[in-house]
Amino acid sequence: MKPDKNIVIIGGGLGGLVCGAILSKEGYGVTVVEKNAKAGGCLQSYSRFGAIFDTGMHVFGGMNADGNIRRICRYLGIEDSFTTIDFDTDSTAEVFFGQDKERYAVSLSGDRFVDSLSSIFPSQRAGLERYKDAVGRVMEDLDLFHLRSTPRMPVPRSEDFLTPADAFIGKYITDARLRAILASVNILYGGVKGTTPAYLHCAITSIFLNGACRVAGGYSTFADALAGCIKSHGGVIITGDAACAISTSGGSATSVTTASGRRIEADAVISSLPLEAMLSMVDDDRLFSRTYRTIPQKKRDSVSAFIINAKIKPDAMEYSDSIGFYLEGTEAAWSADQGMKAEKIMYMTPPMIGQGRNAETFCAIVPMHWEAVSRWESTTHGRRGDAYHRFKQEMAALAISKLSASLPSLPEAIEAIDTASPLTIRDYTGARRGAMCGYLNDCADPIPFLPVNTRVPNIFLTGQNVNMHGFCGVTLTAVQTCEAIFGRDYLINKLNLL
Ligand SMILES: Cc1cc2nc3c(=O)[nH]c(=O)nc-3n(C[C@H](O)[C@H](O)[C@H](O)COP(=O)(O)OP(=O)(O)OC[C@H]3O[C@@H](n4cnc5c(N)ncnc54)[C@H](O)[C@@H]3O)c2cc1C
Repeated sequence: MKPDKNIVIIGGGLGGLVCGAILSKEGYGVTVVEKNAKAGGCLQSYSRFGAIFDTGMHVFGGMNADGNIRRICRYLGIEDSFTTIDFDTDSTAEVFFGQDKERYAVSLSGDRFVDSLSSIFPSQRAGLERYKDAVGRVMEDLDLFHLRSTPRMPVPRSEDFLTPADAFIGKYITDARLRAILASVNILYGGVKGTTPAYLHCAITSIFLNGACRVAGGYSTFADALAGCIKSHGGVIITGDAACAISTSGGSATSVTTASGRRIEADAVISSLPLEAMLSMVDDDRLFSRTYRTIPQKKRDSVSAFIINAKIKPDAMEYSDSIGFYLEGTEAAWSADQGMKAEKIMYMTPPMIGQGRNAETFCAIVPMHWEAVSRWESTTHGRRGDAYHRFKQEMAALAISKLSASLPSLPEAIEAIDTASPLTIRDYTGARRGAMCGYLNDCADPIPFLPVNTRVPNIFLTGQNVNMHGFCGVTLTAVQTCEAIFGRDYLINKLNLL
């Protein structure tokens, strides 16, 4: 497709914005349509009680000196538009077991990983070395992560690629407690025992091994950098207006219509929404086979989350460059708890610009299934009723009381709390059942990845439901979506020259 074409992108989250930035830089006309007042989706920040909080994203990967995402940022000219803070390489994660009050401060950084963990679990050194090598082998199968020429679908070569993540860890590590420590990062991919494939675990683990980081002062600075890139190349971002219809003619998309009645002519459409949302917008069902239309019904959703964002009183709590994981016990690493028991919690003190010794905010994320809030599923934001507010208060109090075993100063240090539930995530992003990571990746799924091309030649997919969720997964999928428009390897070759 030639660069003088106009491409309409539905959804201004990470996937939509990265596609918009790449395409506008390459000279295409770009219009991003975003339903919320600000673009960013799970990459957005908000201000409450005079503090800055984030809606979703808390950990970035691929930003090390030669990292895949850093190269994309360099290509887009936004490398210096936001501030990243690396995790502490000696004490990347603190895993706290609530039942026996055991704390493990461990390095997840590549060159310290084996030494750090085998100093606590000496008998596991050989297993840890084999585990780290196996993570590397699985990652070799994900060509996009290495910015290598990519076939339409990843072709797994490693025998571990589609092994369930818990079995993958168990294959190399015999100590149950160490297995739980390694599994604790599964909060970042909504891991399900016996279901989530090892490649997802390896992707998140390798992000830490290669040097994970956070954005200071709110992740919206990254969304703003992408939006700025789109606008500086002549692209348009329409906010506060939802896309609701895709018109077609002769088997191709011709325009997108929004809730306010805007009609935007399109030479191509990219949808970053879940597949069912895109399918429901297309005016002609016959363009998609029955099998394709039923994919969303066959997919399950990843777990959602209960989020606690707290403003911390001045000088009441130390800031930390570690990520915290609370596990009730060893079994809680893969617990199927609905969230109500708060057996598994990820927490941290998010960095601010010019971060000092003390924390300004604290964030905790408890994986939570939709069923915990489904009784309020027909309510809307601000009108969910007293029972829902009581539920949120009780849930926050429970999680904070659990965390206080690891962080005794926490309850007293909190000045004010804002909470979000799976309902908030569903209504804010449009993700079915508030899924934190899009469709559930299942190692038994015959179609684990969706192609970015659809049956309609000028409708493309991007976003967390296609290949993989998260900062790296969604950004790299956007590269793949753009390559479907440019032609294979056009962009990959450019990125590899940087
Ligand atoms: C609580 C939480 C914590 C997370 N933590 C991390 C983390 O630490 N690290 C990490 O890498 N990943 C994390 N993730 C996952 C990551 O945030 C997502 O995978 C990623 O941001 C998804 O990007 P996306 O563009 O696919 O979707 P989204 O960010 O959901 O964007 C979709 C956009 O489309 C818009 N939209 C929906 N319907 C319409 C419509 N009809 N018309 C127009 N616009 C529409 C939405 O408003 C939204 O802005 C987390 C997610 C959550 C929820």
